[in-house]
Amino acid sequence: MLNISIFFYARSVKIKNTIQFKIIHPNKNKKHSLNTTMRQYRKCINFYLHEIAKGTPLSEIYQRAKHQYSLQTGLIQTARDIAKEQYDSYKNNLNNKVFPHFKGLTTVRFDKRSISFKHTPEKHFEWWANMSTTHGKVHVPITSCEKYFKLLRAHSFKCVQLKYRKNGYYLNVIFEEEKPIPSQKDFKHFVGVDRGSHNNSATLVVQDRQGNILESNFFNVQQMLEKRRRFFVLRKQLGKKKLLKEIKKSKDRERNYVHDVNHKISTEIVSIARKYKDCVIVLENLKGISKQMNFGKKGNRKGHSWPFLLLEDMIVYKAHRNSIAVRRVHPRDTSSVCKDCGGDIRRSPSIHSVCKTCKKEYNGDWLGAVNIVRRFFFYMSKDLGISGSCPKQGKDDSKGSTIAPTLVEALAHRGLMVRPMRI
Ligand SMILES: [Zn+2]
Repeated sequence: MLNISIFFYARSVKIKNTIQFKIIHPNKNKKHSLNTTMRQYRKCINFYLHEIAKGTPLSEIYQRAKHQYSLQTGLIQTARDIAKEQYDSYKNNLNNKVFPHFKGLTTVRFDKRSISFKHTPEKHFEWWANMSTTHGKVHVPITSCEKYFKLLRAHSFKCVQLKYRKNGYYLNVIFEEEKPIPSQKDFKHFVGVDRGSHNNSATLVVQDRQGNILESNFFNVQQMLEKRRRFFVLRKQLGKKKLLKEIKKSKDRERNYVHDVNHKISTEIVSIARKYKDCVIVLENLKGISKQMNFGKKGNRKGHSWPFLLLEDMIVYKAHRNSIAVRRVHPRDTSSVCKDCGGDIRRSPSIHSVCKTCKKEYNGDWLGAVNIVRRFFFYMSKDLGISGSCPKQGKDDSKGSTIAPTLVEALAHRGLMVRPMRI
């Protein structure tokens, strides 16, 4: 039985925007207050984590936390929120067996009750933050670019994070913006994105409701793979010489490089999607996929270190900023069913795959991107019945459907799990 509640999707999404301010050289006393607050806050989160795990009621934990720590009410409550978030993600993530525990100077989350900003054009420092600490209110001057101060003045913030880094204290101000997202019945264009298989890091195919192919795009990553391989070889050499600092530097450089490439790919995917009205980007649900994959030692390094989820996060974030919906489908077998006849695909070591029934040749990644959307059609048909938002099986419509009668069903049943997954 399909559970109907999993078909419910929000009509809008909340987008987070973060801007950073630096606290200008706090004096000794202020530093002391900030540090003590960060330490007390850390202890409070850890206390909450352990009590939540024990099953202590939240109201009781709160009463005890209030006695034990000299933190303002608002801060105890955000510490509770962080502890709950961490505990839930620990509970829900089967790959993570380490119980969350905070160390050092922990980031402190302030809400509107515990921090405010003041503009004083007449003073030497024009902007000030006024924050609750373990030693009462502390006023500190802050600096950043003019653009950020304009944002701070114009919008109401959601929360602020106090962070410590080697070169000082920072305030990350987080804004929340609500973006409307088209509802499922209004989807007109479908952007299927296949990630990480074969030679391309991402392959994109745009289809309309009838399954007509409107546009395709390949994001080749040969260069990226080659560069990562060189990073790997370099680190091996550095490892032999025990140059640990250099190894860390090389890791940072590689991370920046991968981040940068993913930024470019996700920006381009979303900019293609933006051209189409009432668009949805359909991805494979790859969460937990690395556990199922086994490519041997060399392949595993390649497969596991592939930044699938980073790219996904970027796509989702940028899509939502542009009011584009995102859905996920089960990833199984998307590139092993012929898009025209539903027949089995014979996979070859190269990227060319051949249909055993109709002998058509495909690029496996491209076929994957097409079929991801076809599988989503199946999900939609389950949700909306024959409302016309999904191609009617067995009927060619006036626009010339390319979808064969049994194809959508064939695709659906090839995967063991065909139930939709929430974004
Ligand atoms: Zn075929």
